[in-house]
Amino acid sequence: MTFFIKTFGCQMNVNDSEKIRHLLEARGMSTAAEEQADVIIVNSCAVRAKPQEKIFSYVGRFPASRKIIIAGCVAQSEREALFARKARVDYVVGTHQFYRIGDIIDELQAGGRPAVAAGFSRRWQELVPAARARSSAVTGYVSIMEGCDNFCSYCIVPFTRGREKHRPMAAIVREAETLAASGFKEIVLLGQNVNHWRDPGGRAGFPELLRRLARLPLPWIRFITSYPGYHEPELVQVMAGNRNIARHIHFPAQSGSTRVLKLMNRVYTRAQYLAIVRAFRRAMPEMKFSSDFIVGFPGESERDFQLTLSLLREVEYESVFSFIYSPRPHTKAAALAAGAPAQRVRERLYALQELQAAIQLKNNRRLLGKEIDVLACEEHPKKSGEMIGRSESYRVVNFASHAAVGEFRRVRITGAGPHSLRGEETPPSAP
Ligand code: SF4
Repeated sequence: MTFFIKTFGCQMNVNDSEKIRHLLEARGMSTAAEEQADVIIVNSCAVRAKPQEKIFSYVGRFPASRKIIIAGCVAQSEREALFARKARVDYVVGTHQFYRIGDIIDELQAGGRPAVAAGFSRRWQELVPAARARSSAVTGYVSIMEGCDNFCSYCIVPFTRGREKHRPMAAIVREAETLAASGFKEIVLLGQNVNHWRDPGGRAGFPELLRRLARLPLPWIRFITSYPGYHEPELVQVMAGNRNIARHIHFPAQSGSTRVLKLMNRVYTRAQYLAIVRAFRRAMPEMKFSSDFIVGFPGESERDFQLTLSLLREVEYESVFSFIYSPRPHTKAAALAAGAPAQRVRERLYALQELQAAIQLKNNRRLLGKEIDVLACEEHPKKSGEMIGRSESYRVVNFASHAAVGEFRRVRITGAGPHSLRGEETPPSAP
């Protein structure tokens, strides 16, 4: 039996796909190309309506001889409705049921009928099967929590991932130790609200977890996603005191207007958000931020939108993911009246993206002539002798080098565009 996993969505989904792969390989199944695999597993994303539609068109192209499993967030949110939509699907596997995937495939092979497995689990062993199949030998993802209790008014995640559950500290540390011993260069701690993590068996909170992990021989420790409403000042101290915690934080603001934040049920104000950014920068002037923004949320006025643009200018984000608001099932905002006309919302999105591109260009030009550490992540697919790397703040850096993937290089920046940097490796200094 062979399988192919198609992953849509965020790093959390990438990590879930790694877990699925590990579980199936442990049962003797192997991966195959999309065109040949016996079973196609679609690990789906439900955060916006458009990617969800992509999933239906993706599965529609496979012949009936192939078994199709829709897993993940769309599976969890749509469940039986997927069959009613006549989507090409043999089994629906929710976000907490991955651990059963091998049995489900056996059931399908034995002629089992289409069915849904979408119950929520409370057991970490089920949510986080030991993922030893890794999609990268450089970056290791480590789940530390799952689910969310915040119920931001636009967000489907609490309905697809369930309530917050925190993984025990000992298990997180063990997994990070294994990654460090295997030569991984960075780990990324994953969860919907990583900065709300608490050790279920003890008193330690997220800053303490970071302090513990920073003792490991890992050059870069990252974490995603932090919720501004859960910020603790101790996090700033721990980061400032440990140089291997990357000076980059994904810190989703969603809007620059306190009025819209309230409508979104985000429990912080623009002023509080900015105060946290300033606290990080006071302690670590080199600290960089990235963010998510929703444009066209119901009730967003022209003035609210201008406040979002001014937040971009003030923080000078390294990168921004921006989306047009998309009503999602089960959420409070889905019942709100539509906001600005669709054309105006599109114009707002373009204006935001144009401004952010100019900010990124300015940020990147500041690096011209400077030397930075770059992690070689992959060989350039088209240019031989060239590597694509990433800086500590997640900037893409292209540079001529014979470095192996996973090696760090000191690179002098010689070119800067809005989305990437160019550089040349500096020779190692004489002993
Ligand atoms: S914090 Fe808000 S946006 Fe993030 S997962 Fe929870 S409900 Fe969704």
